[in-house]
Amino acid sequence: MARYTGNKCKLCRREGMKLFLKGQRCFTDKCALSRRDYPPGVHAQRRSKVTEYGVRLREKQKLKRIYGVFERQFKLYFKEAERLKGNSGENLLMLLERRLDNVVLASGFALSRNHARQLINHGHFAVNDRRVDIASFRVRPGDVVQPREKEKTKKMVSESVEVNKSQPIPAWLEVSGDTLTSKVVGVPTRSDIPHPIQEQLIVELCSK
Ligand code: SF4
Repeated sequence: MARYTGNKCKLCRREGMKLFLKGQRCFTDKCALSRRDYPPGVHAQRRSKVTEYGVRLREKQKLKRIYGVFERQFKLYFKEAERLKGNSGENLLMLLERRLDNVVLASGFALSRNHARQLINHGHFAVNDRRVDIASFRVRPGDVVQPREKEKTKKMVSESVEVNKSQPIPAWLEVSGDTLTSKVVGVPTRSDIPHPIQEQLIVELCSK
């Protein structure tokens, strides 16, 4: 699975907003954006006015970067979102939100999205008692996500739960920190998604 290995804070600076790619560090004053609130690059501050196309493109890039998906996979998500009933932009967000790596992160079982992905890829998580090592696996209502029975895994996840204990849990997940289980009790709605994304702009860009 391809993944971005460069400087994550540069992505936030490029988008001019916090994408929360580095776990707890993002909530401290060590966050690069709070110290250098301008795009990376020598000529970045001289960039001219952004076009309409540019505004839409940046919105798409933000979403891809938040969820850590590349263009090819993003296009597949978008096509599927268009095929589903309802608003394509909201459908797109719902599909991304239901990825297993997002569920692990939103449940507080990992410190960052990359951490969630690493734990999943290394086979540390199970869905309905079956090992799942695919970060893009899509959860459905009724699914139960939990770390596998290994002592070391449970310890790692418990530590993350402790660090994330003040993090709000979305209404479509029912999380138990004691048993380390996260049950999917519904499907995410737009109001469950905290990211300030203007999905309609993405639809306008991608539907062309
Ligand atoms: Fe983005 Fe987090 Fe880096 Fe801040 S610390 S710039 S929010 S990745």
